[in-house]
Amino acid sequence: MKKRYSLAVIGAGASGLVAAITHKTAYPEHEVLLLEKMPRVGKKILATGNGRCNMTNLGAKPDDYNCPDFVSPALNEYPPESNVDFFKKIGLFTCADSEGRVYPYSFNASSVLNCLRNECVGRGVKTITDYFVKDVKVLKNGAFCINDEFECEKLIIACGGKSSSVHGSDGSGYKLLEKLSHSIVPPKPSLVQICTDSKVVRKLKGIRVRGKLTLEKNDRVCGESHGEILFTDYGISGIASLDVSMFIAREKTCSGLKIVLDMAQDHSEKELTDYILYEAESSPLSPCENVLSFILPQKAGEVFVKECGIDAQKSFSDLTENDIKELVRILKSFTLDVVGTKGFDMSQVTCGGAVTDEFSNVTLQSKKVKNLYCCGEILDVDAGCGGYNLQWAWSSGRLAGLCK
Ligand SMILES: Cc1cc2nc3c(=O)[nH]c(=O)nc-3n(C[C@H](O)[C@H](O)[C@H](O)COP(=O)(O)OP(=O)(O)OC[C@H]3O[C@@H](n4cnc5c(N)ncnc54)[C@H](O)[C@@H]3O)c2cc1C
Repeated sequence: MKKRYSLAVIGAGASGLVAAITHKTAYPEHEVLLLEKMPRVGKKILATGNGRCNMTNLGAKPDDYNCPDFVSPALNEYPPESNVDFFKKIGLFTCADSEGRVYPYSFNASSVLNCLRNECVGRGVKTITDYFVKDVKVLKNGAFCINDEFECEKLIIACGGKSSSVHGSDGSGYKLLEKLSHSIVPPKPSLVQICTDSKVVRKLKGIRVRGKLTLEKNDRVCGESHGEILFTDYGISGIASLDVSMFIAREKTCSGLKIVLDMAQDHSEKELTDYILYEAESSPLSPCENVLSFILPQKAGEVFVKECGIDAQKSFSDLTENDIKELVRILKSFTLDVVGTKGFDMSQVTCGGAVTDEFSNVTLQSKKVKNLYCCGEILDVDAGCGGYNLQWAWSSGRLAGLCK
């Protein structure tokens, strides 16, 4: 006789842990089984926010996601403040920065995982680690059979996407869902470093600038972000680049995609032109290699001066009208052709996944298989950096966990 549970949750990541806790809290008499392929639960949580775990964003709203209509009920029911409160109730103080990004008060991701793990133990969730689910069948009586070993009346699949497989999520959840007749939007890496074809970026390797990135295709703006950009030997990294990679993932191909970088977003072309003219007048003998150091790191300025075709050794007073035009152009619209992105193992989030139309957005129950639910990143839901993806994991996990 196989052991039968009221609910089984496959995947003990952010959303699965919260789903199991929510269910056991709402229905203490139910037996809840949580299955995790890794040796420990919640491994990815420890890596989030550079080990600090940016748990949510107080400004998170449906429009921040790729499918606002689908995420609305979960986010309305469990907005960021409600998740902050949920964590307080299970033993965690949090704090928020000026941009609404919420962190554990300890600024340590292990505090988040510890309270989730303790809550599972305290509430009596039966957790099995080192357990890979490779098969789920629907039995004649409507219950589910997992790996021919366990049975459950309700099933939540919370296996995450394909990003960062070192933390467990390897896309195997998609196969389980496909066997259960669900469709998958082909997954793509998102919040990932961007590869560009410009030789200049290699010369800028290791330099950080602040700016606004605009992703364009044939003069259509596909997305924007701003913040820190790090030049690397393959292209660009840094928060602003990760954010713009989300829009690359949502495009069919990279062909024709360009990134326009404005490294002086708070200043108009006129203001920049006037300032360079003022410098040329006030320091006429300074070498041109320094002309952009008023706004860029010195090394970056030197590279961009050369890129404008200006002799770095000539002096400020020798700058021509065309030189100044070129300098302002490169500051405001340094353009890079996108050739691709780094892969899933470098990405923080997966774009694509289980087709959301096949699930009720009010309960997260499958419209194809009764008593089957999904939550978290396995669904085709994604957003940018700043706490939005964990916000979805917590809110969708809480909603799915309420399955009766
Ligand atoms: C480096 C990094 C930093 C990040 N930082 C942030 C951040 O600061 N803020 C933010 O909002 N988001 C961040 N994210 C994204 C966020 O971590 C994810 O969106 C979130 O963890 C998704 O939760 P989930 O429960 O859906 O999936 P996951 O957390 O990926 O959990 C899925 C779990 O299912 C298990 N599993 C998978 N398949 C099987 C199977 N067949 N059998 C058994 N178990 C299985 C996996 O081992 C895993 O434990 C970051 C991601 C990464 C990689």
